[in-house]
Amino acid sequence: MSDGDSRNLFSWEDGEVETERVEIKRLTPFIGGRYLEGTSGDGLTVINPATGAEIAVVAAAGPREVAEAVEAAAQAARGSWGLMPKSERAAYLRRIAELLVHHGARLATIECLDTGHPFKEIRDLDVSGAAGWFNYFADVLGTLRSDVIEGVPGYFSFAVREPHGVVGIIIPWNFPLFLLARKSAAALAMGNAVVIKPAEETPLSTLEFGEICLEAGLPSGVVNIIPGEGETTGRELVGHPGVDLVTFTGSVEVGREVASRAGQNLTPVVLELGGKSPNIVFADADLEAACASSLFTFCSNQGQVCTAGTRLLAEASICDRFVADLVNRAQRVRVGDPFDEKTQVGAVISERQMERIERYVALGRQEGAKLLTGGDRYILPTAPGGLFYRPTVFGDVDPKTTIAQEEIFGPVLSVIPFHDEAEALAMANDVPYGLAAFVWTRDLSRAHRMIEGLQAGSVVVNSTNVGRPSIPIGGYKDSGFGVEGGIEHALSMTKLKAVQINIRGEIPIL
Ligand code: NAD
Repeated sequence: MSDGDSRNLFSWEDGEVETERVEIKRLTPFIGGRYLEGTSGDGLTVINPATGAEIAVVAAAGPREVAEAVEAAAQAARGSWGLMPKSERAAYLRRIAELLVHHGARLATIECLDTGHPFKEIRDLDVSGAAGWFNYFADVLGTLRSDVIEGVPGYFSFAVREPHGVVGIIIPWNFPLFLLARKSAAALAMGNAVVIKPAEETPLSTLEFGEICLEAGLPSGVVNIIPGEGETTGRELVGHPGVDLVTFTGSVEVGREVASRAGQNLTPVVLELGGKSPNIVFADADLEAACASSLFTFCSNQGQVCTAGTRLLAEASICDRFVADLVNRAQRVRVGDPFDEKTQVGAVISERQMERIERYVALGRQEGAKLLTGGDRYILPTAPGGLFYRPTVFGDVDPKTTIAQEEIFGPVLSVIPFHDEAEALAMANDVPYGLAAFVWTRDLSRAHRMIEGLQAGSVVVNSTNVGRPSIPIGGYKDSGFGVEGGIEHALSMTKLKAVQINIRGEIPIL
């Protein structure tokens, strides 16, 4: 389904599922090219959300291991990795990409056990997508040049890009492997060494990535992995004075804290945060495609997608008909065992997240929204301990209410009718977030007006979430700052050094 280069999210077709039996062995931090024997941190219990079973206990990195990881990365960045010719670094990235694909079934199995996300999507989209990021940034390396600048007459002026040094990477639990790849491929390509902290719920594929680095022959210390809680390991990493840049993906709340803590050391940060994206359907659109896509965008990955179109703004003249079709489709979505090839919606990540979804749904009812479908857990007879939630649609939602304003991060959609373009635009922008927006219309002029007016880092017209590593995507407003993807992402992983060489021997102040 994927072109091997992107995580194109529009994919709900049946396909073969062939899993591997895996033994999960890598359960300790990976620092300086080796897995530690033990740590000073606590144990992290990892649960399979689709069954409720405990699948591993991971040794969390304590302050000592965080410091060791930063030191190992600093040595690698100052040493061979940072100074290596670009073509050699690119060859390492390509090798990592090959190995990700080669071990794809194993990685997808581990990720599926850890996240509850349908196996088929992980294998076909996330793993090949992860490889795509490494290949893309290997390609970018071949295109970068230093700029010669028109400077003071008599001076030869140019600017060079240098790596920051140690990049601290903090990732959430919704797409662990894919987001690890997105952040680390760019940082590594530009000559940085990285210290990666996976989310406490989903450390397993990230720890497995250490094996890939070993097999690729990556110099030791270039990639370091420190599992642990955000409040302890994450905080320690962000506040470590040896970290030269922090790139964070997660919630707005934690993003603010990360920025503030990093700010104490004047460490620059990139923040890729949450969203409450509008999916705007005008009456003239291809309603069949818009409806299929509207369903997919709010419940793919159990709604745990930062760019999910969780606010459906539908033109009043077609709203009832459109929503009836959508509800019908939502009731036919196959929720259940993530390893089943027919499953479209798997398990919600944790009991905590499930309770969050339930709180918002209860609030929606209290706020007077009309529950059209869903609104409860789904109990899978073969796995009663699993965390499944039915796709849920609220109709007639007041755009000012909490469920229409806040990110729920579950398969819950708010439908809001609008009467004209100006009203659609005003409502689309009337949330604190600005990550993505989707517009459905056949009117090209209107599409352009909407593109111009929407306050979002990414606008998609007549489609769902399509992405490629070459496309720079970031947030407006509370959705963060900095971009991931594209040349801009690569450049943000560097510092700029301006150089001026006096070639005529004339010094202006003498
Ligand atoms: P979260 O903010 O709770 O946690 C994200 C990461 O931060 C985890 O690794 C966590 O351990 C760590 N963390 C927590 N507290 C910390 C602290 N004080 N210091 C340092 N690190 C800390 O987010 P989550 O619940 O794991 O993920 C869901 C959120 O991520 C949603 O808001 C979603 O929209 C967002 N997200 C954004 C993008 C994007 O590209 N913009 C992509 C995926 C997810």
